[in-house]
Amino acid sequence: MEPKTQTGYLLLADISGFTSFVAQTEIDHAHLALSFLLETIMEKISSLLIIFQLEGDAVFAYLEERQLQEGQSLLELIDQTYLAFREKALALYSQATCPCKACRALPTLDLKFLVHHQAIANSKLRSISLPQRIVTTRSPSIWSLLKIRNCSQN
Ligand SMILES: [Zn+2]
Repeated sequence: MEPKTQTGYLLLADISGFTSFVAQTEIDHAHLALSFLLETIMEKISSLLIIFQLEGDAVFAYLEERQLQEGQSLLELIDQTYLAFREKALALYSQATCPCKACRALPTLDLKFLVHHQAIANSKLRSISLPQRIVTTRSPSIWSLLKIRNCSQN
């Protein structure tokens, strides 16, 4: 009988500093910059993992264990994603002609990752398609689904 859950990796990529970035800066430019940065992160992550949730400043993805041939690939992907994120943030900063707080604060944004090896209930994780990914609600349900604690921003 086919088991309902698989073992795999859950990955969270979370933009640090986002909450104060949005709260204290010009909202239009903050959201525009954020959408570019999230797009960059998702492009990289989706080359190996399946993205199933986007919440504000965080991208959630998973990968079944059997689909990962070498653990090193996952670490390399995280490195590459981080570099792409930093490059994008700095590129946006250097291209910005606007003196608003959001544009000036771009280099202060950072990206953190959390990877958790665990059982994954595939039926609950549906891949989301790229153009419709921008969802800004922050529901607590995802945390209980992932059973990950202490990794959200306080
Ligand atoms: Zn600006």
